[in-house]
Amino acid sequence: MWFRNDLRVTDNPALYHGLKSCTGDLIGCYILCEQYIAEHPINARQLWFIQQHLQLLQQAFRNSGRTFTVIRVKRASDIPAALRKLSKQESIGKLVFNAEYPLNELRRDRATVALLESEGISCKRYHDRPLVPPGMVTTAQGTPYKVYTPFARAWRNQINNVALTCYQTDIQPVPPPVQLEKSQQAQINKVFKGCWGSREKESMAPLWPVGELAADARLTSFCQKNMGAYQQQRDFPAAAGTSALSPYLAIGVLSPKQCFIAARDASGVNWQDDEGAACWIGELIWRDFYMHIIAAFPALSRHKPMQHYTEGFAWRTDQNDFTRWCKGQTGIPIIDAAMRQLNQTGWMHNRLRMVSAMFLTKNLRIDWRWGERYFMEQLIDADFCSNNGGWQWSASTGTDAAPYFRIMNPQTQSERFDPTGHFIRRFVPELEHLEGKKIHKPADNASEYPQPMVDLKASRAETIEMFKALK
Ligand SMILES: Cc1cc2nc3c(=O)[nH]c(=O)nc-3n(C[C@H](O)[C@H](O)[C@H](O)COP(=O)(O)OP(=O)(O)OC[C@H]3O[C@@H](n4cnc5c(N)ncnc54)[C@H](O)[C@@H]3O)c2cc1C
Repeated sequence: MWFRNDLRVTDNPALYHGLKSCTGDLIGCYILCEQYIAEHPINARQLWFIQQHLQLLQQAFRNSGRTFTVIRVKRASDIPAALRKLSKQESIGKLVFNAEYPLNELRRDRATVALLESEGISCKRYHDRPLVPPGMVTTAQGTPYKVYTPFARAWRNQINNVALTCYQTDIQPVPPPVQLEKSQQAQINKVFKGCWGSREKESMAPLWPVGELAADARLTSFCQKNMGAYQQQRDFPAAAGTSALSPYLAIGVLSPKQCFIAARDASGVNWQDDEGAACWIGELIWRDFYMHIIAAFPALSRHKPMQHYTEGFAWRTDQNDFTRWCKGQTGIPIIDAAMRQLNQTGWMHNRLRMVSAMFLTKNLRIDWRWGERYFMEQLIDADFCSNNGGWQWSASTGTDAAPYFRIMNPQTQSERFDPTGHFIRRFVPELEHLEGKKIHKPADNASEYPQPMVDLKASRAETIEMFKALK
């Protein structure tokens, strides 16, 4: 079994079916690709998280008397040959894996399947990343949905047609710490050499406990304690109102099906009638929606906007302004708090992802692809489909995009969703001393803090005019 962003043993369809159909023994394998690390990119925080979970997978395989191997290649085009070599070494007759939908991944998989099948090795692909696989939710004409609301309606009708039990095998998830032999530890450390450093380990380990069991405990706790108030709490960054499960979903330590079942069962009634469960499952549907969109429109994987008319938009490419946004030095407290949360924790609250992405694209008018890449470089939950979808939505270039004239005002958003300034004070200590509403607009009250780098009203009006002219 070739593992990719599905680093778990529970509810893993390729693993389950692979074991079931295996006449000999099943070997687990993961391939780290230097080209993907540089170009996609895969950031150091996520690489740290991936390595921790690979160690646990190796341990789980070893406990069940099986082997799990990790390989490093330079280029994506080396991957098929690496798998052929492994197949020859181990006399492998069949390869199983779970699908990924961005273009490079599809091409990689096609090339691998073609090579292995030409050598008489059968290959089988399963679906585990979305709850409902691409192609199963279409309009009456059989075309992909481009708008979320009708997609979600059709998705809800389809969910009953999906097998909703979790796959279990004789391989059991293990908690850290790993007790691998020195030689195995040395092998995986060698493969991941230079991918992350002590900074990642020290800053990420306290925030993101490693392992399927830890992810499952977080899911259970969220469903029991927070899901009921999710709809009321989810937009307030100072509150722990959301699940913080995205890093686990991104690399597949947890499946969306596990999430759906936990939420459905915790609701105790028909989940669609439960405000909290329905709202939270609505977010899992957004995740599926963006995966379906990437699968249906390959041009999105080539950095193209979904709305063709926006291709001619004159995005700014001002490196200085971009750097100020990246560093959280814009002079707009809520944006700076958001960007510093990202830089320090590798995660950002959803409301702030929208607000900071809109500020970059609509007030600074900097190319959304710059912001998209910066998020990929920083987020421990970096996921191409959700990130591309979120950026294109914010830039009004995407499917179901925010209309170009509806631009969030960061200051109003700040007053509404961080009314006490608690969140801003946490990440922008220069403003700690400001009381009441002054925290949202400190221009004249904090000498150590920069002036706003752009006039919010004027820049908004200019952007709207530019979109109007393009239309
Ligand atoms: C500009 C921008 C970039 C984003 N980049 C990413 C990214 O790289 N990786 C990523 O996982 N999410 C991304 N999102 C979506 C969303 O912000 C995060 O999934 C969410 O903040 C994760 O926190 P949570 O686990 O507490 O979410 P919860 O509110 O608890 O939601 C549960 C799960 O649903 C999914 N989800 C929630 N909101 C969305 C959404 N709007 N779109 C797609 N899936 C969603 C996530 O998997 C999340 O873990 C982005 C959003 C925007 C606006």
